[in-house]
Amino acid sequence: MIVFLLLFSFGGTPVSADLPSETRIVVIGGGVIGASVAWHLTRLGCPDVVVLECGQIGCGTTWHSAGNIIRMSTDPVAVEIYAESASIVAELDQRHSIGWRPCGRVMLARTEERLKEFDIIIRTLHEQGAQVELISPEDVQNKLPIMNTDDLVGALWSPGDGRVDPTALTAAYCREAKQNGARFLEGVNVKQAVSRANAVTGVDTDQGQIRCEVVVNCAGMWARDIGLKNNVDIPLYAVEHFYALTESLVDVYPDMPTFRDPDGLIYGREEVGGLLVGCFDRDALPVRLSELPAPFEFALLNENWDQFMPYMEQAILRIPALADCGIRALVNGPESFTPDAEAHLDEAPELKNYFVLAGLSSSGVTRSGGMGGVLARWILEGDPGLDLSRYSLKRFGPEHNREDYLRRRVRDMPSAHFGLER
Ligand SMILES: Cc1cc2nc3c(=O)[nH]c(=O)nc-3n(C[C@H](O)[C@H](O)[C@H](O)COP(=O)(O)OP(=O)(O)OC[C@H]3O[C@@H](n4cnc5c(N)ncnc54)[C@H](O)[C@@H]3O)c2cc1C
Repeated sequence: MIVFLLLFSFGGTPVSADLPSETRIVVIGGGVIGASVAWHLTRLGCPDVVVLECGQIGCGTTWHSAGNIIRMSTDPVAVEIYAESASIVAELDQRHSIGWRPCGRVMLARTEERLKEFDIIIRTLHEQGAQVELISPEDVQNKLPIMNTDDLVGALWSPGDGRVDPTALTAAYCREAKQNGARFLEGVNVKQAVSRANAVTGVDTDQGQIRCEVVVNCAGMWARDIGLKNNVDIPLYAVEHFYALTESLVDVYPDMPTFRDPDGLIYGREEVGGLLVGCFDRDALPVRLSELPAPFEFALLNENWDQFMPYMEQAILRIPALADCGIRALVNGPESFTPDAEAHLDEAPELKNYFVLAGLSSSGVTRSGGMGGVLARWILEGDPGLDLSRYSLKRFGPEHNREDYLRRRVRDMPSAHFGLER
């Protein structure tokens, strides 16, 4: 597979490997998730944290995320997680300017049935004191003058949603975690956990072993392969995932609300004067990690217009100006989905003190703060404080971790995930 390798400079200080022999907690993977977990652990008073990243911090999926921060869900636990995430993003933005724009979001309804579905989201958010309301197509038109609203019956408006720079967010987590004692070591490839009597005692890397009490697998789309080395099942699989970046457009402004059009499986937002328009496609294309060139750092897959074109047509229907607008790039980056498009946040049933936070199913940036916090509290205080059954590894059996099953199953997951907020 041909890929574009992009030279990309990460905002944080480069960190070279100097492996300690011992620490309390090892985090595998320095993406937005591993960085958030380290941030929370150190904030809760545990400085004894080493994050091991085989490439550079943020070089996996995180750097090319669209960075949308969402608040809406039909599930009360998810709403709580999203709320914690959004407040952490706002907090970090005050200290580090991470590009947080609380511009709000509209979720569009093309049918009365879709509008009816929004009732569950409204109820769930209102029960938790969050703001969300139904608005008319005219209101949508006022917020998004570039949009064709003729076929809409209404929309849901969530003023607390927004967008952030995912690389800057990751850098901010790292910077503060480092200030609080965590160490981030780049260029260290974790092979597997080391265990005795079915409990973690360390990790084995390409540069030697580190003794530790707890391992947290935050290796994104690579988490499954690392898990398998210890017979830990982490069912997830990468698919191609897209957004297009356009040239500048009239009527697009920086604080324009982000939008999601679930009936067309598209979403979008402003990006440097143009639009970022993405899709959650049907029949998504699975990506075999062994076929990616190594190292796959700050890298993308080839543009795939055959796959994206039906969604570009939906985008043109929604925003007619796109028909005559130049496209700067079609970003195609792999992202891992689980067999139900939910994340995995659990201690592995097979191995004590082996925790997993992976398979974020295209909402890793938005869930990083909340899920990182839940996991850190679980590790350090013994109680995550929330019912996490929705994210339990035990919702799947070993048969769901077979590659042939996953390759078939994940094809439907982006569009399934997108139908109604999870
Ligand atoms: C096109 C696109 C748009 C998206 N838009 C959004 C959005 O708007 N909002 C949102 O919330 N999410 C979005 N996402 C999803 C989001 O980007 C991901 O869910 C998130 O970045 C996952 O973070 P992570 O830390 O789990 O994975 P990664 O960022 O991939 O980090 C995992 C890290 O582990 C490292 N690693 C792997 N193996 C090893 C090993 N053996 N040893 C050491 N290190 C290892 C990797 O190098 C990598 O840096 C989007 C994704 C894509 C592709």
